[in-house]
Amino acid sequence: MHFTEPVYRNPYWPTYPLLQITQGCTHNSCKFCTMYRDVKFGLQPMEIIEADLKELAATVPHARTIQLLSANPLVLPYSKLVPIFEMINHYLPQMEYIYAATRVTDLRNKTVEQLRHLKELGLREISLGVESGDDWTLQRIHKGYSSQDILEQCHKLEEAGIDYWVTFLNGVAGREHSREHAINSAKIFNQCKPMLVGTGGLTLFPGTPLLDEARRGEFDPLSEREMLEELKLFVENLECDCSFNTHHTIATNLSGPGVLACKHGIIAALDEAIEHGDLDRMAAIRRSKRSL
Ligand code: SF4
Repeated sequence: MHFTEPVYRNPYWPTYPLLQITQGCTHNSCKFCTMYRDVKFGLQPMEIIEADLKELAATVPHARTIQLLSANPLVLPYSKLVPIFEMINHYLPQMEYIYAATRVTDLRNKTVEQLRHLKELGLREISLGVESGDDWTLQRIHKGYSSQDILEQCHKLEEAGIDYWVTFLNGVAGREHSREHAINSAKIFNQCKPMLVGTGGLTLFPGTPLLDEARRGEFDPLSEREMLEELKLFVENLECDCSFNTHHTIATNLSGPGVLACKHGIIAALDEAIEHGDLDRMAAIRRSKRSL
């Protein structure tokens, strides 16, 4: 198999097999991310994709799921994706679920009809790392799209019947804009129908512009307690009837099958962590992280 490091597997999806159809990230300028900083974006040559699929056909001929790599494989135009999807189905005829993480902007160049066809070819679940629904924050962290873009593209996925996740990056607006980040993200997410809302806590990784800004005093990061308070405010305002999970450094498992059904429990767990959690330990875990 042909992979370009780093290989990021969504920890919540069946992770095997993986198939790289692009390398790197077309955007590569979110202020909190260095993951693909040294990788030039490119399309994996078709003959390499086919060679990998032949290898999978020999080793896992009954595969029913596959995860496409890398950061935003669906940036490829419809005309390039169709032959790749057809090839996946040809070599792995029992394929049912094609998963991919991708950027909101990658959906702009596809019509609902085209997305529907990709679904028929197996595209069932997309993870959108939107990080915020607050326009000030989206601009501040260089996400490269607006809250209106999020709404437009998510509604296209809904029309096409493709399930999707949206993520909230806890802490990424800093102290200056924490409240707006939490409330406006929930407001935008509430206008969408994701199957899951996922949250992660901001870690200032070495080499990121946001860490440099923090060192210069231009970005004021939240403390662990403030992160939990922001997350609580976000959940309090969230009305999506979907699953929820977080890979915050909080010890409590904050996952549930339905935000609305589990909301009280999630908020109670956050209150408990705010009042009695080992915040120093959480900070130490966050400091020790080296990648997402
Ligand atoms: S967060 Fe995602 S879109 Fe932003 S630079 Fe990193 S990989 Fe690319």
